[in-house]
Amino acid sequence: MSLLVTGIRLPFDAPDEEAFAPAMRTCGLHEGRPSLYRRSIDARHGKIQKVCSVLIDGVEGEEAFAEHLQMPSVRYKPSAAFAPVLGKKRLAHRPVVVGLGPAGLFCAHLLARYGYRPLVLERGGDLAERDRAVRRFQKGGELDPACNIQFGEGGAGAYSDGKLTTRTHDPLCEAVLQTLVENGAPEEILRLAKPHIGTDLLKDVVKAMRTAIVQSGGEVRFRTPLTGVEVRGGRLAAVLADGQAVACERVVLAVGHSARDTFAMLHRVGVELLPKPFSVGVRIEHPQELIDRALYGRLAGHPALPPAEYTLSHRENGRACYSFCMCPGGLVVAAASEPGGVVTNGMSYHARDGRNANAALAVSVAPEDFDDGTPLGGIAFQCGLERAAYAAAGGYYAPCQTVGDFLRGVPSTGPGAILPTYEPGVAYGSLSAVLPPFVEGQIRRCLPVFGRKMRGFDSADALLTAPETRTSSPVRIPRGEGLFSVSAEGLIPCGEGAGYAGGIMSAAVDGMRAACRIMEEFAPF
Ligand SMILES: Cc1cc2nc3c(=O)[nH]c(=O)nc-3n(C[C@H](O)[C@H](O)[C@H](O)COP(=O)(O)OP(=O)(O)OC[C@H]3O[C@@H](n4cnc5c(N)ncnc54)[C@H](O)[C@@H]3O)c2cc1C
Repeated sequence: MSLLVTGIRLPFDAPDEEAFAPAMRTCGLHEGRPSLYRRSIDARHGKIQKVCSVLIDGVEGEEAFAEHLQMPSVRYKPSAAFAPVLGKKRLAHRPVVVGLGPAGLFCAHLLARYGYRPLVLERGGDLAERDRAVRRFQKGGELDPACNIQFGEGGAGAYSDGKLTTRTHDPLCEAVLQTLVENGAPEEILRLAKPHIGTDLLKDVVKAMRTAIVQSGGEVRFRTPLTGVEVRGGRLAAVLADGQAVACERVVLAVGHSARDTFAMLHRVGVELLPKPFSVGVRIEHPQELIDRALYGRLAGHPALPPAEYTLSHRENGRACYSFCMCPGGLVVAAASEPGGVVTNGMSYHARDGRNANAALAVSVAPEDFDDGTPLGGIAFQCGLERAAYAAAGGYYAPCQTVGDFLRGVPSTGPGAILPTYEPGVAYGSLSAVLPPFVEGQIRRCLPVFGRKMRGFDSADALLTAPETRTSSPVRIPRGEGLFSVSAEGLIPCGEGAGYAGGIMSAAVDGMRAACRIMEEFAPF
């Protein structure tokens, strides 16, 4: 148990330890053991500063002391040690986890660690096979619908920037970071307010976690999709793994937001699904140098400053337009998972040292925009955009327009000074052929607003590639009592696909939550 002192501001290039004395002074303490808890760079308001929070251990009666101080910047921080409760009931079958993205991976890892020997069903291949499939597609080869940027070991998170930011303050976040570090992620993620791993390092962490699952008695079946669910009398009776029945009592369904055939199957067998708002839009690319200059001014390029990041948002006409999943020094990637559709997304390597920065510019879409009388209307809406892009580009190239041409409403015939990073390549033209008018109009209105907030953001040479459709799940699989689907006792919808997470961190937390739910009821298997 410790005291946590937040908001200590230092020159941006000062050593972290310089935060300790001001933290002690803030609390009026002469004795105690300070250590760095988190640090970030604040480049707002034309002044660049390092902002630290410091943990102080060794203070007697910390809780009462923090209360007595009555300072908003000082609080008591209980120990984050994670200790699950294990139940006594006997499991007749080992728990089944469907999907090996962050939600399924963290769920299975925790179950395996405590002796529950989970069986993991994963639609795609392992990371070695997946790397080959992704590379082939990026070089202009065939798309493998089961093994791509969305599907396969590590899930959608494997080819990402590996940002670990989340808006949830769940205590399990610390356990997720700790598990990542134990499996090879850099220790710095424990100290950064905006940690990121990078796709290069993340893949080894995923492999290490899968190895730990198998070494603890779990089993991972790759290329084995969940193809059916049997529900009898409101209870889960069995699942079909690639057509073969698997008896089960508890199934964690962590299939991600792109498992469209699985959502359709669940709808067919009567598992309740609800339509959910999401967002669609474009990826915007700028030189990283431009972003650094806009945020750091003359200090851009200083070795003590990381590649600059931004978040922008604006609301107009009842709709939000916002930057999402910003990847400093990253690449725009081909993230399709269905033949005949184009999808963009972004990723970066740990060093974030690529020439361009990219981010999604996403516009909110509500169920009223795609209502077709079924819970699957959002999927049809996404598919429509992805197919329109494929038709406009004449294949898996991404339709692309410069910001200057987009704002003037004329098709692009080539790039300006900024070259796109998307592979297999882009097709210059007009995004009007791809985006619904309300999305296109909202982005057109918001670009100049963002340009006023961040110099150069709406510069004529910036590139827009489209469509960005997989920002979050278009459905929710409602959970009731005990995290079970309201339609099937024993079935635990989990992670982003079920609508209970948005991003790697919250999906991993939800996976751990699902594992805890099983562990508190049953004894190890
Ligand atoms: C390119 C890219 C970059 C991203 N960057 C970031 C980032 O920097 N930070 C961040 O927080 N988030 C990022 N995201 C989003 C993040 O990856 C997701 O939020 C997260 O992976 C969701 O985790 P999940 O486990 O719920 O689902 P997923 O990661 O989608 O995993 C679902 C898994 O289930 C499998 N599956 C699907 N259907 C079946 C089935 N029927 N049977 C068996 N298996 C099945 C899939 O193959 C997949 O492995 C990015 C996403 C992409 C695509």
